[in-house]
Amino acid sequence: MNTLAEILPSIDALNSFVRSKSYRSMYASMLKRVIYHYKREALIAATNEGIVEHRHIVCPLVKCHGCGGDGRWKSWYEDRTERCRRCAATGFVNLDFIESRLGGFVWHSPVRDAWDFARGWRQWPTNLGDWAPHQQGRDLTTDQVAEHLLTVEASSLPRPKPFHGDYDWDYSTYYPHEDYGIDIGEARPDACTVCGSVDGLGRLGLSTGRLHWNAVVCRPCSNGGSDRVRAALPAYLITPTIQRWIDTHPVRERNA
Ligand SMILES: [Zn+2]
Ligand SMILES: [Zn+2]
Repeated sequence: MNTLAEILPSIDALNSFVRSKSYRSMYASMLKRVIYHYKREALIAATNEGIVEHRHIVCPLVKCHGCGGDGRWKSWYEDRTERCRRCAATGFVNLDFIESRLGGFVWHSPVRDAWDFARGWRQWPTNLGDWAPHQQGRDLTTDQVAEHLLTVEASSLPRPKPFHGDYDWDYSTYYPHEDYGIDIGEARPDACTVCGSVDGLGRLGLSTGRLHWNAVVCRPCSNGGSDRVRAALPAYLITPTIQRWIDTHPVRERNA
């Protein structure tokens, strides 16, 4: 079992990674939710052990996500705008964060995600220092992502629990730990992943089990259906670390 101190560097790397270019270029279902879950659990554990300091900070005048900064909210299903309620039509909002310092790391959480660990956050906000929200994170390779996840999951932090959809019409139950995926990258671009042909190649994004990857396929193979392409997952994309992740993250059996 890894201790809290041993997994902090991995959580720090993953917490930064979700704001990086490499994360945005990957397709990985529920991965962000899983990472933020472990960040929050680590903060709860650190608070209980008394090894973290929290302070409440407010970032003034951040561009409003509700309207994009022009103060007008746009309906996505009809051609209509109205006064943006989130920012009172000013185009800007103040964002509240909890800044947590532990083991040499500094993490930020929106106040709404910090109820479980930042007691006493109602104290008057302290000022920002040199931090600002929406900063670019540090890139990771898939290999590093898998290694960090394995490190964190080998600790006593609780696993993310199943949850229900956010919308009234969504009756699904989601299983973040059992279903989250990782993106293992792209097949070599010089020949069809299935048959080796070099003519008329195109890319195809696929999910094979819990892995997402991009195949390179010729036209006849892409017309033959994606099951064949899915089965042609190239062995060179499976590094030893990815293999360890696959072995410990089986595909959940769904009830028929
Ligand atoms: Zn707005
Ligand atoms: Zn082919």
